[in-house]
Amino acid sequence: AVKEPSDRKPHCNVGTIGHIDHGKTTLTAAITRVLSEKGLSKFVDFDNIDRAPEEKKRGITINAVHVQYETQSRHYAHTDCPGHIDYVKNMITGASQMDGAILVVSAADGTMPQTREHLLLAKQIGVGDIVVFINKADLVDKELLELVELEIRLLLTEFGFDGDKIPVVCGSALEALQGEDTEYGKKAILKLMETVDTHVTTPARNLDEPFFLPIEGSVTVQGRGTVGIGTLTRGTILKGDPAVLLGYGKEMKTFISDIQIFQDSVPKAYAGDNVGVLMRQINKKLVSRGMFLCKPDSIKQWNHFEAQIYVLLNSEGGRSKPLLKEYIQLMYSKTWNMACCVRLPEGVTMVMPGDTTIVNIVLRRPMVVYEGQRFTVRENQLTTITGVVTKTLS
Ligand code: GDP
Ligand code: MG
Repeated sequence: AVKEPSDRKPHCNVGTIGHIDHGKTTLTAAITRVLSEKGLSKFVDFDNIDRAPEEKKRGITINAVHVQYETQSRHYAHTDCPGHIDYVKNMITGASQMDGAILVVSAADGTMPQTREHLLLAKQIGVGDIVVFINKADLVDKELLELVELEIRLLLTEFGFDGDKIPVVCGSALEALQGEDTEYGKKAILKLMETVDTHVTTPARNLDEPFFLPIEGSVTVQGRGTVGIGTLTRGTILKGDPAVLLGYGKEMKTFISDIQIFQDSVPKAYAGDNVGVLMRQINKKLVSRGMFLCKPDSIKQWNHFEAQIYVLLNSEGGRSKPLLKEYIQLMYSKTWNMACCVRLPEGVTMVMPGDTTIVNIVLRRPMVVYEGQRFTVRENQLTTITGVVTKTLS
C-alpha cells in the first residue's frame, strides 16, 4: 500500500555533477554501497551506473541513470550521466527537477572547464542547493586539499552561489566503494549524506495545486496502451483522474488508467514522484517528449511571449558577437526544445554578450509556457541565452 506523505519520508531529487573523471559515478556507487550496509539502499555497482541506457528523444540522445536510496530522514532519486554533453543536455532539457546537486571535484585536478559549465547550468536552471565533494583526497596532502577548497569557493561565488557558506566534504569515493571504513572512505560518504540531508532543502511540493507532468518519454505496454514517463512537478494524481495531454499545438483528452512508481502500480502519486502514467486511448505516436499531462483547463499553450534574457559571455560559453534584431535558434525549456525567433525590443539594434534585456519570443508551434518558466537558447551546442518568461502574449 502506498504511504501518505505524512508518514512517507520526504522525497528529494539530487545528482552528481562535475568534470569528467573526477569520480561522479564512483561516488554514486559508493553512496549506494555505504547506505546499503544500513539497509537504506540497494547496492548498485559502478558498471551498472556507467552503462546508462541511451534515450533518443526528438533527435536528442541523452544518457542518464537514476538510482534511488534513503537516509534516515529522506528518500532520494539520484541522477548520474556518463558524459559531459549528457549533463548539458540533461540539465537543459529535463533536470529542472534536480533539487540539489553534489558537485564532485577531484583534489588532484582542481576545478576544470566542465566544473564551470555544470555550475553555470545549475545556476541557469535554478538548481537551488549545491554540496561540494572534493574527491580523490587519498591522492593529495592536506595543504593541497585546502587550496582546492578555496578555488572551488571562489568559483561558486563567481557564479552567484554563496561560496562562503556552501558545505564542502572531502573524501575518497574509491575507498568508500571498496568498503574501507576510513576517514576518507565510508565515514566521508556518511558525512556527505548528512550534509545533503541538511543543506538541500526539500522543495515545497504543492500537492493541492492542479497536477502538472512534463513528459520525458513514453513506452507502449502491449495490450494496455501508452505510458507517459516523467517527474510530477505539481499536484497529486489518482488512478481514474481525467487529464489532458498538451504540446506542439495539440491537445488530447484522456484518463489516467494506471500509475507506476519504480515498477509498482500505485493508486496515487505526489509531486516529486518519478511516475509512469498509463493514458487511456492515447496512441504512442501522439506522445512526444516535451508534452505535458495536466489537469483539464489548468494550463494553456502559447507561441508568443515576453521574456527577460541574459546573453552569455563568450567566456561563459556563449557568443562573441552581439545578438541582432532577429535571432533564430533552438529554445530549450522543461523537457522540450523548439525553434524560436528572439526579437529585440523596438529601437534596439543589438544586445552584447553579458547584457540583459526584455525580448519578444515566437515559437514555431504553441507549447506549454507559463510566467516564471526558465529556458535557454542554444546555437551549435553552445548556450547563448538564458531567460525567464515574464508574460505570455496572444
Ligand atoms: P566520472 O567520469 O566523474 O564519473 O568519474 P569515474 O567515477 O568514472 O572515475 C574516474 C576514475 O577515477 C576511475 O578510474 C576511478 O576509479 C577513479 N576514482 C574515482 N574516485 C576516486 C578516488 O576517490 N580516489 C582515486 N584514487 N581514484 C578515484
Ligand atoms: Mg561517470
